[in-house]
Amino acid sequence: MSNGIGAAPGIAIGRAYVLPVWEWELPEKPGKETDLASEMDKLYSSIRFSREELEEIKSEIRELIGEEESHIFNAHLAILDDPVFLNEVQDIMKRQFKAAEVAVKEAIDKFVGMFDLLEDEYMKERAGDIRDVGNRLLKHLLGDFQDVETPVEHPCISVGKELSPSQFANLNLEKTLGVVTMLGGTTSHAAIMARAIGIPCVLGMEGKLNKPIQTGDLLIIDGSTGTVLVNPEIEEVEEYQNRKALQTEEKEILRKIVTIPPVTADGKRLEIRANINSVKELTNALEYGVAGVGLFRTEFLFMERSIMPTEEEQFHIYQEALGLLNGEPLTIRAMDIGGDKPVNYIALPQEANPSMGLRAIRILLKRTDLFRTQLRAILRAGAYGKVKILLPMVSSIDDIWKSKEIIADVERELAEEGITFGRNIPVGIMIELPAAAGVADLMAQEVDFMSIGTNDLIQYVLGVDRMNEAVAELYEPFHPAVLRLLNHVARAGCKAGIPVSICGEMAGDPLALPLWIGFGIHEVSMSVQSVLPFKSRLLATNAERCKEIAEQVLTCRTSGEVRKLLTAALPTTLPAPLTGDSKGEIANGA
Ligand code: PEP
Ligand code: MG
Repeated sequence: MSNGIGAAPGIAIGRAYVLPVWEWELPEKPGKETDLASEMDKLYSSIRFSREELEEIKSEIRELIGEEESHIFNAHLAILDDPVFLNEVQDIMKRQFKAAEVAVKEAIDKFVGMFDLLEDEYMKERAGDIRDVGNRLLKHLLGDFQDVETPVEHPCISVGKELSPSQFANLNLEKTLGVVTMLGGTTSHAAIMARAIGIPCVLGMEGKLNKPIQTGDLLIIDGSTGTVLVNPEIEEVEEYQNRKALQTEEKEILRKIVTIPPVTADGKRLEIRANINSVKELTNALEYGVAGVGLFRTEFLFMERSIMPTEEEQFHIYQEALGLLNGEPLTIRAMDIGGDKPVNYIALPQEANPSMGLRAIRILLKRTDLFRTQLRAILRAGAYGKVKILLPMVSSIDDIWKSKEIIADVERELAEEGITFGRNIPVGIMIELPAAAGVADLMAQEVDFMSIGTNDLIQYVLGVDRMNEAVAELYEPFHPAVLRLLNHVARAGCKAGIPVSICGEMAGDPLALPLWIGFGIHEVSMSVQSVLPFKSRLLATNAERCKEIAEQVLTCRTSGEVRKLLTAALPTTLPAPLTGDSKGEIANGA
């Protein structure tokens, strides 16, 4: 058994299909035989063909997966139009009398090499984009029209060194049971697309396998844990078949509670909302019965593109989301860029410590042009449904005052221009920094709601980088210091009479549920996979007992003590709606 990075959840069992690597045999043409004019012609037609193909793939992906994912191919189209890249190719052809295909190959190698040298994982992955476009050009230049299309007729698990967007788009997705790649991280396109379409995916297997996977090998992959088993024993196959069946069965059972209100057995309501990165994800989330969106991470609208989305484009995306929401709220977080989420067309400084650097609201208050464009789009969309504005990484009350001044100014501007927009849109803040948590009582006086981002809050409270595997075991959501802060923020919200939500990954952890109710949290917002297991726990929970548990937890000295207490409180039976027991009796726990 080997472990890579679990990038899209689910178990897949099937035969491997190893994707071909694009390797080109380049002709060694002596310089004098190269006719520059005809080579230029070849270059331009290969660019034209590649552009047509990419446009076609883009619209297929838009249909199949979603609008935002299709933008990945904008980056490819932009490379085809990039004057730096084109000049390099033409220069090699003119100065060294090389054939178009040789010049393209050399230019690609040069730029890929440059990107590969960069420390930043995201930029490294952009090297893959350049290679992908280069391969497409070479395919046309060499007249090799055999595409990388997976020629699979039978369901299989696709295995690649790294899966480029073009290769992903060419997979026969109906026959693809899962995806394994040697390279790539969770921000790679393969990961994003696999998650969006719901195909189990494990990445980063390089150096983790005893021998390379061959086409025809039997594979088991678990995209939640990152596990890959090559040619497993029969017992292992049976074990994973059972796990898979159980997962499917659990999912089917849980579907019964989709339409049941999110209330505890003794009648306490806890609103469950969705975390989304795109409108496509919202469509999916609505099938799980969520009450709107507690966190729309809009930075993803900005990241997978080569140019900034216009106000109009942003407005249409928010408006489309509201159209699906039937009056439920859409909490739009202003773009949380910088740090681990760079945007290649927004110049940001190279920082030694990006997570403590220029990011989120700090960028927005400096680049007010970006902030104002997004605010205009959000406020305009506010005329079409229930919108809330959420400010990321706020560290002081000054951040709130400055942001609210800008919001008021944008409102004035829209009014002067006679443009329709939503009035009195609630403005809230993310509590992600210990500084914000510490003065949550004061901040609560200034805003309409607060949303606790535990993913970041935990890293800053514990001084543990959330992206660093070397300290991953120190990243402890149930550390007493974290829990005391969460309680403090929840109480501050209650006292000020404003709702407090939790929207980090911890929100959907069933183990933490008694704390949310005990602390007085009003809403939770989570990724869609967590919604039904969490709700099942909620329905089987007793709110009064949660208060006692939360009080006890706040006296614990270690995360071990906290976990023990919370584990003992887990219910031992299914909630009444799943057992058909109308009395809804609870066995044991909270
Ligand atoms: C968080 O920090 O908990 C959060 C929800 O924001 P993100 O994960 O996008 O940083
Ligand atoms: Mg955060």
